[in-house]
Amino acid sequence: MSAPATERSPVRMDEIVSLCARRGFIFQSGEIYGGINGFWDYGPLGVELKNNLKAFWWQRMVRERDDVEGIDSAIITHPRTWEASGHVANFSDPMVDCRACKKRFRADQLEGIPPCDAREGSSQHDFTEPRAFNLMLSTQIGASQDASSIAYLRAETCGSIFTDFRRVREAGRQKIPFGIAQIGKAFRNEINPRNFTFRSREFEQAELEFFCHPSESAKWFEHWKALRLKFHRDLGFREDQLRVIPHTTLAHYARAAVDIEFLFPFGWQEIEGIHDRGSFDLTQHAEFSGKDMSVTIEETKERFVPAVVETSVGVDRTALAILCNGYAEEKLEDGETRSVLRLAPVVAPIKAAVLPLSKKLSEKTERIAADLRRRWNVFHDDAGNIGRRYRRQDEAGTPFCVTYDFDSESDASVTVRERDSMAQDRIAIDALRGYLEERLEGWR
Ligand code: ATP
Repeated sequence: MSAPATERSPVRMDEIVSLCARRGFIFQSGEIYGGINGFWDYGPLGVELKNNLKAFWWQRMVRERDDVEGIDSAIITHPRTWEASGHVANFSDPMVDCRACKKRFRADQLEGIPPCDAREGSSQHDFTEPRAFNLMLSTQIGASQDASSIAYLRAETCGSIFTDFRRVREAGRQKIPFGIAQIGKAFRNEINPRNFTFRSREFEQAELEFFCHPSESAKWFEHWKALRLKFHRDLGFREDQLRVIPHTTLAHYARAAVDIEFLFPFGWQEIEGIHDRGSFDLTQHAEFSGKDMSVTIEETKERFVPAVVETSVGVDRTALAILCNGYAEEKLEDGETRSVLRLAPVVAPIKAAVLPLSKKLSEKTERIAADLRRRWNVFHDDAGNIGRRYRRQDEAGTPFCVTYDFDSESDASVTVRERDSMAQDRIAIDALRGYLEERLEGWR
């Protein structure tokens, strides 16, 4: 057995992109036609990773709490939703065009852009004045093609949480304070999608809107900030890779806002925003819909429009952070190198791989794999040399490999190899499920 060396060099973005394509985590959408900028497909390992991440969020944010209800709303909702929220008028980034090369850039992200290739004697761009560019993607609904048929693909998932507030509160028989959570697709016509999936035009968000008395929003803001940081730490992000940055300027209605940032290979970047939004959202929707969004406290008869604390995390950005955090090229003591993805078991796409030492033992291992599959995503692999099979699982982030050898026939035991330490344990087949459960589901 070769022990891992301790040194880990910082991961590079091109290594992550190449791993993702090679192992089928994430690759360009429409790749055979040259791809489409800002859109990504998740392959067999990627979809498992992303589903596990979403299930973990749902578990922590919805299922483990009496005071949060979940919903799954339509991507296209009533266009008035986005007028009330201010998206139609204001959801824009400043944009500049280069008069020479005709390329378009975000005016606040000009650092590090490629030089102009269309000007004689200069590589400087010849920029127009910045203009506001609305990021909402629109579409048309129904047969008529006029202004009344325009609708928007949601730019964030929370719009319907506000419009569904009354219905969900009544159906869930909830009293203030309580929250509504949702995971789903969002769309933004980003001017410059970049850094792999970090800035995409189609992405997923997991959002919570927590409704409370306006006098208690500061308390709930701290509560959710602490829980959300714990969530990221439980994903395996180290202290020196996470930081909380307060916003220096706040929207006129907001009382507090922070970003949780992760240290990507391309620098510190936001993965989650936490905002104390005051009563702005429900007040706006009350005004635009003409419906009463206030609540009354039974005991005191106090009537008020609830304030909202929002937590909004990007599923794709977090998945990318997980990959960057976990990936390492390690020099082993025997001089070999291995690529390994040190994923927290809760998000690992494959929880265990079952490997017969020889193809002749496959019948037995298939039975072991079938038993474990009733509970976890388990991979069975009987092809090729055992060292190479271990390496493939290391690179897929599989926490455990279970090897059945010729001794297993007499001692009814298997060897379990742990991904990070590469330490091996001999375990009775009868005890295997309990052994894995303890190690894979400790987070519960
Ligand atoms: P940025 O400043 O990076 O554009 P934002 O502040 O506009 O992000 P929010 O509107 O607060 O982002 O959205 C909440 C979360 O949704 C972000 O923290 C991020 O994880 C995710 N997100 C936002 N835009 C994108 C995008 N274009 N691609 C992928 N994820 C995104």
